[in-house]
Amino acid sequence: MSIQITYELQKSDLQCCICYDDISPPIIQCSSGNHFVCDSCKQKINSKCPICRTSKLFHNQLLEKQLSSYFEPCGYSKCNKRVFKWSAEQHSKSCHYQPAKCFICNCIVELNELKNHLRLECETEWLEYCH
Ligand SMILES: [Zn+2]
Ligand SMILES: [Zn+2]
Ligand SMILES: [Zn+2]
Ligand SMILES: [Zn+2]
Repeated sequence: MSIQITYELQKSDLQCCICYDDISPPIIQCSSGNHFVCDSCKQKINSKCPICRTSKLFHNQLLEKQLSSYFEPCGYSKCNKRVFKWSAEQHSKSCHYQPAKCFICNCIVELNELKNHLRLECETEWLEYCH
């Protein structure tokens, strides 16, 4: 599937060129090509495109507007991420706000709270957690 906007982009273009995650608003794009970086990777690279190296990155608000109908909010209300409709399911599987079951006391906590929960309430050190 391709997305018809003022120019054509493939779904695979709409990924962060560092972590290959889907981009989500704010859409940060390289000023000389279809290179995108996600918000969290942007912090690490000093506003320079990691592919062209010299090009500046900018917040592409126009594209963000044009893509807005393709985005939907993550189903977990505490997560404020907007994700592409076609990858919402994939995101929800890796979302830090999804419910996770504590394997000690069997209560349900948010995935990003599980580590703290284990340590503070179940007094277990986090070793490894498999989905
Ligand atoms: Zn990224
Ligand atoms: Zn670039
Ligand atoms: Zn989420
Ligand atoms: Zn527990």
